[in-house]
Order: sequence, then C-alpha cells, then structure tokens
Amino acid sequence: MARPKFVLLPSRPPEAFARHLAGEDRERVEAAARAAREQFAGRAIWHVSSTLRGGGVAEMLRSLLPYVRGAGIDTRWAVLREDPWFFRFTKRLHNNLHEDRGDGGPLGDAERAVYEQTLQRSAAHLRGLVHRDDVVFLHDPQTAGLVWDLAPVGATIVWRCHVGVDAPGATALRAQRFLGRYAQAADLCVFSRRGLVWSGLDPERCRVMAPSIDPFSPKNQELDPDSVAAILGAVGLGADGADRPPLFTRADGSPGRVERPAELVQDEPIPPAAKVLAQVSRWDRLKDPDGLIECLASGLAPAEDVHLLLAGPDTAAVADDPEGALVWAEVRAHRDALPPALRRRLHLAGLPMADLDENGAVVNAIQRRADVVVQKSLAEAFGLTVAEAMWKCRPVVGSRVGGIAEQIVDGESGLLVDPRDPRALADAVLGLLADPGRATALGTAARERVRRHYLGAVRLAEYGEMLAGLEARP
Ligand code: UDP
Repeated sequence: MARPKFVLLPSRPPEAFARHLAGEDRERVEAAARAAREQFAGRAIWHVSSTLRGGGVAEMLRSLLPYVRGAGIDTRWAVLREDPWFFRFTKRLHNNLHEDRGDGGPLGDAERAVYEQTLQRSAAHLRGLVHRDDVVFLHDPQTAGLVWDLAPVGATIVWRCHVGVDAPGATALRAQRFLGRYAQAADLCVFSRRGLVWSGLDPERCRVMAPSIDPFSPKNQELDPDSVAAILGAVGLGADGADRPPLFTRADGSPGRVERPAELVQDEPIPPAAKVLAQVSRWDRLKDPDGLIECLASGLAPAEDVHLLLAGPDTAAVADDPEGALVWAEVRAHRDALPPALRRRLHLAGLPMADLDENGAVVNAIQRRADVVVQKSLAEAFGLTVAEAMWKCRPVVGSRVGGIAEQIVDGESGLLVDPRDPRALADAVLGLLADPGRATALGTAARERVRRHYLGAVRLAEYGEMLAGLEARP
C-alpha cells in the first residue's frame, strides 16, 4: 500500500553487556564484533519486518540492532506497510504454520498471486536501496515473498522464520509449501529452534538461532518495588503507589515517566496484598486467554484469592495482527459473562503503544508485580515473555510446548504443564503460591538460565560468526 517505513535506530555500546557475561563469552562477543566490522566495512545489513511494535520480532529487532550499530556496523530496519488484506492473509500463514487453521481460508494460486503482487511496491523500493554487497534479513511469512524480488540485486538474503511447531501436521505443511519456494531461494534460512527447521529445506542452508532479550531495555531493567507500585498506580492497575512518581530509565538513558493510562477492564485496581498471576501477550487465541480465565474459574479461584491479570498491546497498535481486536473483544465478553465474585479477580489491560519505552516499563512492572507469571500458549515458537519474566526472577508456569519447553527446565527454572490440562496449571500455580521458598528458588535459577543462554550479546556474536561463514552469492 505504501513504501516501507524506516526506523531510525539508535546506537548502543555492546560493551554494556560485559558485566553480565562470563569471561569467554565476553571475548567471543568482542572477537565477533571486530571480525564483523572488517567484513562489513562499506556494506549494510538490512532487516525487513512487518510491524514496528507488538510481538517478539519487533521486540528483538528494537533491542538487538542498536548494539550492532554500536559495534560499528551499518544496520537498517525497514517495516512493511501493506493493506489490511495482506495482513489478514499473512496472519493465516502465521496461524497455519502453528498448525492452527486461523480463518480457515485457502492458500492457493489466487492468494499467491495477490501476495506476490502486493509485495511488488515494497520490493521495488527496496531494490533501489539495497546494494549487491549487502545482507538482507527478511523476517517471517510477511516478507518471505521478497526473497524472489531481491535475489536479482545479488545481495545475500537470509530468511528468518520466527514461527512454527515441532511436529507440523497437514495445516502447517500446507503453509510451508506455500512459502517453500521463497525459503529455498534464500541463501540461508534461520529458525529459532532445531525442532522448527523445515524438513524440505537443504540442511546446509539452515541455521538455528534462539531469540534473546536486552537486560538494559525499559522492559527488563531493574525496577525497585516502589517504582513497580508507582507505575502500576499510574496506569490504573495498582491501588497504591499513586503518591510516588512512576519513573523509569529510557532506552537512551534519559529519565522516563509513565503518563498514559492503560485501557482497563476491571472492577477496581488490584489490591496491594493480593496474589497476582499475570500473562503478557498479544491478543491471540494461540496464547489461550480464554483457557486461563477458565482455569481461574475452575481451579484457582475456588482455592485461593488470586487475581489474574491479562495484559497485551492496545489492539489498534499492532499493524500485522488484524485478529487482535477480535480476540480482545472475545476476552472482554468472557469476563462480562463471569459471576461477580470471579469477575472481580480478573483484570484486562490494553497497554498503550504510542511510546514503546513507556510500554516496556509497564510490562516490566506487571511481570515484577506478579507472584507467578504464566504463559499458557497452545503453540509457541519461542516465547520472549517467558525469558523476560525469568530474567526478573519470577517463577513461571508455562505450557509444555515449543520454545517454552526449551527455556524452562521443568522443576528447576520454572514449571511446565500440559496446555490442555487446566487442573495441572491450577495445581502448579497454587503450589507456588503456597511455597514461597520454592517460588524464589525457581526464580533465581530462571534468571541464571537466561543469563547463560538468552542475552542479546551472545546472540550477536553468533550472528557475526554465521555471517562470517556465509559465502558471498556468486
Ligand atoms: N509485548 C509488549 N507489550 C505488550 C505485550 C507484549 O511489548 O503490551 C511484548 C512482550 O513483552 C514480548 C513480545 O511482545 O517481548 C511478545 O513476544 P513473544 O515471543 O512472547 O510472542 P509473539 O508475540 O512473538 O507471538
């Protein structure tokens, strides 16, 4: 519909990570940065994605790319701006890749023709900008079609797939078939976990790269309990804290203040002493918000005066997720249908996305306020929200699916439950609420696991090493 939008990326020093890294990791990061500076002198690395905010891909690009720039490498980020048909269709691909039928629509020749046609304008614009010595990362199904359009430029093209399931059935395989011709034309395909690599692709041209978090971002930085209370008070979720200023540190190091109220559906703010179970996610059925509400009704509320907080982005803000508004409306209706005693314990929050630092600070405060963080996804390629909560020493109860099961070592750094078993989820949460010592031990181990495996600096080094090993396209 319109030309891609370019994001003005700040520059941050990768050395900032040093204090969180073990000696050998520090050296690895430094060596990769040195090598990449040489390899990419005079060249650019492009990232093309489909939304500026909301969801894991935007989160990762926003947090990682400034450190690439800080390492002295010219990195750029373009965001597609296509029409609503396109994003409805690519959401179908997204859902299908998760073995979910989504809107049930077809993936036929007619759809392919419109998909490719729609990308033409963006492709033409990017072709005029990308140089043959550059590297282009295309993220997810929305941008896959661009592989064909950009290949003639001669640049190295990497398709980065952030979604999928370990055991694809007919639905996921049909989406893989649709996208396969683009993926095959890329120089390299990168998946978030080994189990997500498509069987139809040349293994020599597939790599695995886990997502990562930025410990210094407003979303993950340290926040003391007073600031947590103040931020939750400012958005209307907390009953205390209104007398303190809701301050945080912005990504650029300047002071920030939470100003915008959230869109809240609740009887009243969460009482200061209440036990809180929280899930932060886009409004997406695969995150199973309804299943969580049912779990509150059937297992949690009868046993404990626990409050459930479901928070996600303000649905108007996430350009590539047209189902968000629908799911938000469904969840609200589900809440309205609850008996008053249950409704009182369910808080829904649509968080403003106009200022992403502010949004991150609110997510941060919610995750820290939670006695238990839950991620009840039915399918999850990775699940950054899990790593974010683990970094904050939260005990996390997650579904035993995809990337959640990879991040959490069950019983050591969190708890895993069958996503179709609300009783097991309720028991796990109640067990943690009854045993704060165990909850603390799981949270402490969780942070260490994230420190070792999921911090951005190590991932950057891996990307540098991967690109160094990539032969230039003949
Ligand atoms: N997120 C956010 N604001 C919100 C809700 C979610 O910034 O209001 C972020 C969340 O903190 C996480 C990302 O969106 O960083 C979601 O990534 P995840 O991998 O968990 O799921 P995805 O949305 O990619 O399916």
